[in-house]
Parts: sequence; C-alpha cells; structure tokens
Amino acid sequence: MAPLRISFLIRSVYDLLPSNANLVRWGKKDDPTCPLCQGRQTTEHVLSSCKVALSQGRYTWRHNRVLQELASVISTAKGEIHPSSTSSTVFTTEGGVKMARRVDPNKHP
Ligand SMILES: [Zn+2]
Repeated sequence: MAPLRISFLIRSVYDLLPSNANLVRWGKKDDPTCPLCQGRQTTEHVLSSCKVALSQGRYTWRHNRVLQELASVISTAKGEIHPSSTSSTVFTTEGGVKMARRVDPNKHP
C-alpha cells in the first residue's frame, strides 16, 4: 500500500484528519460547521454520516470509484486493459471549481 494511503488510514482511525472539528480543536479554525449540512464536521461526519453528501450520492460515487480502481488493478495484473485505466477523475474543490486529472491505478496521487 502506498505510504500516503497508509497515512490516511491511520489518521482516519485515530481521528487525526483535518476535519473542521479537529481544526477547531487544534486552534487552526474557529468554526467546526460542515459547509454542506451545517452540522458539526467530524472525521466520521465527512467519511460516512453527512446527510447532504449522502443525499447527493457522494458516498456512492466514492464507493464506485474504489471499485473501478480495484477492477482496473486486477485487469492490469491479468494483462488486460480496463476502460477506467484511461479515464480521468474530476475533482471539485471546496469553491466548486472542477479539475480533471488522469488516474493511474498503479500510482498514488
Ligand atoms: Zn455535513
């Protein structure tokens, strides 16, 4: 597993990701509010319990992207070419600006 993925995994388990609640706790921000639903934005909230993200299908999209990456890695390992290996991922910044980036399933961003 790529080092950044391991780091994300460990920081998510120990609630050390920069959620708004943690940024307030660390004195980096004054407001722990989720910009989507106005609830308290904890790590758990971001990863699995924001009602607005759920209603917009964001968790389903993330779930499907993980499955696409797994399928691509498996296809590559089998010597096949998977359609998603040539696709790009569109990321949306907090301000709503969309940025496309090619995804190489064998490399971490
Ligand atoms: Zn929320």
